[in-house]
Amino acid sequence: MRTGVRRAKTAAVSLRAQLLSWYDAHARELAWRIGPGARATGVRADPYRVWLSEVMLQQTTVPHATPYFLKFTQRWPTVNDLAAAADEDVMAAWAGLGYYARARNLLACARAVAGEHGGVFPDSEEGLRKLPGLGAYTAAAVAAIAFDRPSNVVDGNVERVMARLFAVEPPLPDAKAELKRLAGALVTDDRPGDWAQALMDLGATICRPKSPLCDRCPVLDHCAGFATGAPEAYPRKTAKAERPHRHGVAYVLTRGDEVALVRRPPKGLLGGMLALPTSDWRAERWSDAEALRAAPAEAAWRGVGEIEHGFTHFILTLRLLRAEGDAVGVIWSPRRDLDALPSVFLKAARAGLTNLL
Ligand code: SF4
Repeated sequence: MRTGVRRAKTAAVSLRAQLLSWYDAHARELAWRIGPGARATGVRADPYRVWLSEVMLQQTTVPHATPYFLKFTQRWPTVNDLAAAADEDVMAAWAGLGYYARARNLLACARAVAGEHGGVFPDSEEGLRKLPGLGAYTAAAVAAIAFDRPSNVVDGNVERVMARLFAVEPPLPDAKAELKRLAGALVTDDRPGDWAQALMDLGATICRPKSPLCDRCPVLDHCAGFATGAPEAYPRKTAKAERPHRHGVAYVLTRGDEVALVRRPPKGLLGGMLALPTSDWRAERWSDAEALRAAPAEAAWRGVGEIEHGFTHFILTLRLLRAEGDAVGVIWSPRRDLDALPSVFLKAARAGLTNLL
């Protein structure tokens, strides 16, 4: 074996040992996790819970995802229970997690596992990948965490850790393949589930995006980024194009304690979800006259401010118009039930009902 290759292998072995031993002592306690102590005694994670948590974590942070995870697993303790749930119930329970296509994929996947695999998740990355709506990252994560397969589990956190550990100069997204290769070179058959989670924990708690806590890092002596003196400058990034801006009008129509809602068309953004009635969303702002013309009912509409909401691909400003009155073709909902609305409409309803401009 050439000396350089041998040195790299030795460094990888030492880096792995240091990170795993840190994980043994500092693993985060997560609602869906089987910690390293329990795993060492043979306890295995439930693939359903691992899969569900991974899908949720692609949307949001651990603190935000945890109550959703607990709510889902209490109501639907197994994949068969989730598969048998009504679409509207799952969509409503998902409200606030954003990106409803994922909730639809979640149901499609649960139904495939229940209907085609007898309620048992396939135990390999390839098998998992064939399930509907289950992407490459989730397949790798479930294979590693639930089935201890040596999968290369690479998300944005792991990319950041690799970019810093190896001081990778090409910027994202061009560097993705190289970062994946570097992460893959550290995966072995020894404790693959713990390894994937150790890297996740390192990225989440120590090698944080803005201020990495290098003085507490278990792999500091392997870190080329730290050696440069500016580890937070990795991963390098190409300048991001600004998200476009769209404008719309949301109508908060009340009838006593009830608020008028509509169901959005099944296809497209927030498809099939309950919503406040709105105008179209477009590049130009809406004039007063246009906003009144697009209203769902004739009423004494008055402006009560606006809200801004960031979607993945654009930023939306909604002007808010409020009135008391009646309308046909709407769904009247008690105010106390508005929490089930998608975030953008909940934000708009709350502001529309409380702003007195
Ligand atoms: Fe991240 Fe700092 Fe650790 Fe390097 S030393 S992996 S930059 S926390």
